[in-house]
Amino acid sequence: MIVMKFGGTSVGSPERIKSVVNLVNDENPKIVVLSAMSGTTNALVKISELLYSKNSEGIAEINLLEDKYKTVVTELYSTEKYRDKGLETIKSRFDLLRSFATGSTFNAVAECTVLAQGELLSTALTHLYCEESGICSTLLPALNFMRIDRNGEPDSFYIKEQVAREMKPYSETKLFITQGFICRDANGEISNLKRGGSDYSASLIGKAISADEIQIWTDIDGFHNNDPRFVENTKAIRELSFDEAAELAYFGAKILHPASVWPAQEANIPVLLKNTMDPNAQGTVISSKTKEEGIKAIAAKDNITAVKIKSGRMLMAYGFLRKVFEVFESYQTPIDMITTSEIAVSLTIDNTEHLDRIVQELKLYGSVAVDRNMTIICIVGNNIMHSKDSIAKVFKALDKVPVRMVSHGGSRHNISILTDSEHKAEALNQLSKYLF
Ligand code: ADP
Ligand code: ASP
Ligand code: MG
Repeated sequence: MIVMKFGGTSVGSPERIKSVVNLVNDENPKIVVLSAMSGTTNALVKISELLYSKNSEGIAEINLLEDKYKTVVTELYSTEKYRDKGLETIKSRFDLLRSFATGSTFNAVAECTVLAQGELLSTALTHLYCEESGICSTLLPALNFMRIDRNGEPDSFYIKEQVAREMKPYSETKLFITQGFICRDANGEISNLKRGGSDYSASLIGKAISADEIQIWTDIDGFHNNDPRFVENTKAIRELSFDEAAELAYFGAKILHPASVWPAQEANIPVLLKNTMDPNAQGTVISSKTKEEGIKAIAAKDNITAVKIKSGRMLMAYGFLRKVFEVFESYQTPIDMITTSEIAVSLTIDNTEHLDRIVQELKLYGSVAVDRNMTIICIVGNNIMHSKDSIAKVFKALDKVPVRMVSHGGSRHNISILTDSEHKAEALNQLSKYLF
């Protein structure tokens, strides 16, 4: 069995949905994970914001989105019967959205319910299209098996059990369709795996069913060696190791959700990145087999805040770093990069929810400086730590870019650089020029 995930652009129009169904319609058993049609989740985020602020524009936005879906239905189905079924499907989803506009309270659960409608719509409409085309498929409701625990981490044991339970009555089914992104939380309320989370769903489902392969179908021909949104002439990489891909995804390569590599890695399931618009293009394989060394790719993660704690008390002292880390731990704020000198430690975070209180507590240990709007640039490749000239080339490339922090040697696979976000594009382009 394989898992095939299609992103927003891949199901972004009636034509695209038809191509996806064409791609998945063969005898090989599979679970197809779908994102919302492109633009839908952004529209639902906007609707949520309007509903939160009790802005009367909310209803107008809901109706506008519904109109788009009415056009999708008209173009997707060729018979009156299925157009009617399609219209019924979208009406029930949009009536639910409208009910939030008239209801009294709009809270976090209501927001997640609103955001979930995109994936519920795309899967229902695709399933219906299969039915109209005489293709047998079964819809697996992700809300019946995808669950996160109290810490927001996927509950792997539950997911595995429940997916198996949901699939059991359909032993003859070759084509299952399910929603990416959406899940339930530990209280059973609708939640999600954060933006871009359908990749994560695919990987978690792949692990749960011990899939032979997890395929991520998107709008580009694989993992590129730099961010194509900022650098021209980037190239697709044929092979990546799990460690390389995990590092790149975590440090901002948008093609994969930051956490989506580890379930596949844990279960040692190869991940294949493919282009829906060009299915014959080779794509990228992420697996444990790849051993090729040297710098492979560069990624960038924005909205980083650097915190520097400077203290004479750190000099020759032990226990100082523990105290600093405990402050971040007590506010459940993960640290990404760390550099130390004898009298100061600098570190970076991307979650600034508790920053003010963190800074107050850190001031007990020394003076604290905060720099916002920073970007981590991550240069990744197997064993680059042992490559003699990698770091030299990186510094040569960045000779005009102000570098705030450098981290090298934390793993064998990466060099991380912290710079002001305004220098990001320049840094990415310079690195491409010198490294590839
Ligand atoms: P989907 O909707 O299919 O999940 P995404 O928009 O989330 O697609 O991810 C694909 C996009 O990621 C590409 O169109 C590209 O602009 C962007 N991207 C950023 N970095 C990379 C990279 N290193 N390789 C490939 N694509 C990348
Ligand atoms: N629809 C969700 C989003 O836009 C999840 C995804 O596309 O992966 O973030
Ligand atoms: Mg994505």
